[in-house]
Amino acid sequence: GGADIECDVLVLGAGPGGYSAAFRSADLGLKTVIVERYATLGGVCLNVGCIPSKALLHNAAVIDEVAHLEANGIKFGKPEIDIDQLRGYKEKVIGKLTGGLAGMAKARKVETVRGVGTFLDPNHLEVQLTSGDGKDLTGEKKVVRFGQAIIAAGSRVVKLPFIPEDPRIVDSTGALELKFVPKKMLVIGGGIIGLEMGTVYSTLGARLDVVEMMDGLMQGPDRDLVKVWQKMNEHRFDNIMLNTKTTAVEAKEDGIYVTFEGEKAPREPQRYDLVLVAAGRAPNGKLIGAENAGVVVTDRGFIPVDKQMRTNVPHIFAIGDLVGQPMLAHKAVHEAHVAAENAADHKAYFDARVIPGVAYTDPEVAWVGMTEEQAKKDGVKIEKSVFPWAASGRAIANGRDEGFTKLIFDAETHQIIGGGIVGTHAGDMIGEICLAIEMGCDAHDIGKTIHPHPTLGESIGMAAEVFNGSCTDLP
Ligand code: FAD
Repeated sequence: GGADIECDVLVLGAGPGGYSAAFRSADLGLKTVIVERYATLGGVCLNVGCIPSKALLHNAAVIDEVAHLEANGIKFGKPEIDIDQLRGYKEKVIGKLTGGLAGMAKARKVETVRGVGTFLDPNHLEVQLTSGDGKDLTGEKKVVRFGQAIIAAGSRVVKLPFIPEDPRIVDSTGALELKFVPKKMLVIGGGIIGLEMGTVYSTLGARLDVVEMMDGLMQGPDRDLVKVWQKMNEHRFDNIMLNTKTTAVEAKEDGIYVTFEGEKAPREPQRYDLVLVAAGRAPNGKLIGAENAGVVVTDRGFIPVDKQMRTNVPHIFAIGDLVGQPMLAHKAVHEAHVAAENAADHKAYFDARVIPGVAYTDPEVAWVGMTEEQAKKDGVKIEKSVFPWAASGRAIANGRDEGFTKLIFDAETHQIIGGGIVGTHAGDMIGEICLAIEMGCDAHDIGKTIHPHPTLGESIGMAAEVFNGSCTDLP
């Protein structure tokens, strides 16, 4: 059939995966079209994910930090919070970044088509054009004919079936809208997204409860790291309900009433002013007509791919949240480059040894590669080395010496295979451990690398030196 637009590479979705794939594909000389339903490029990460959450977390961290200064003889008094202005700041941050992306797309002559895309067959995508913020269809359609396609349609919030529609019940997107600060807030799901948003609201004045089905908050990193975060954050919570199910949510005039089930769960329904549902994200693989293109999608909505990011249909690639865990922006970007390079006939493979994770709480928790827990499970022989920040001059000077840096080595080769950091700026530091793992460094490589003093990052070198049996003279 006829097509309105022809291109070498069609990219579906403009999140970190999609825009990275489109830019790389255009840079490699391919005529590239990107289809996105929403008004701005950037996807979940820039519009309603990584970036707005960090804009708010930054403000929260400064408020908390300033409160700590009282012990040093510096008193600011209670913060006066103009929530409209704070929201405006967050919007400005998003605008700078999405505007930047639009400029980069234009500079590369990547054509953007605004609308909801559905595959018609292995070489055609139909786009129902959208207007406004992307929720409204204009009724117009366009058909794109493509040589190759890169699917980057991302993921969406999981909705729990028993939860009613009510403005006092929000998902992460609703929480980021920051409409009001509740007195009493429930976070359903003790994962990173829930705890980050909980941190923001708690610093702005909310009391928190959190309910989690698993036996601990923040699954992923080793428990010793999480313990430090939990101790520093106990003051935010009235009740941390672990091994507990949420069984009913009822919206009443005076609040949202939630019923729990679990050994230590409260018997009576509890009343909240705001409920944040952060119970995970689901891939969008089933919402794009993939079957019309012959692309296999799993029951859960993931699209299986090989190391070149190809689906079962060789000229159609898939990347980002909808190809599997971990659902993280930096994973999507690297997969995007691999897909685009293969589309341009460069042989590229996704073969990252490790993908780091970070909880941008206060303190931050960052981890990568092998954990102690995983090693135990897999029967991998490891040795570890821990450098407590109570011995770090910089951490002490900062008044934040609760953290520690842990390195995990292969017991035989002493090569580094994992690491974890809890403490302020842990997320900014974990990249060094990622590089060390990718480069196959051993404990001497890391320990003999001169790190600047006094820095928090120095704790990585120190942890290696402790392992090497050297004395770490600099506090
Ligand atoms: P997405 O970002 O989901 O983008 C997919 C895009 O495709 C969307 O814009 C969507 O509108 C569009 N789309 C989907 N279907 C269609 C269609 N049929 N037609 C047209 N357009 C379509 N990750 C981190 O690494 N660090 C963090 O700090 C972090 N914080 C987060 C905080 C929150 C609150 C949330 C929700 C997520 C966070 N994430 C974070 C996860 C991160 O946002 C995702 O991993 C990342 O956005 C995935 O990128 P993607 O390109 O796969 O898809």
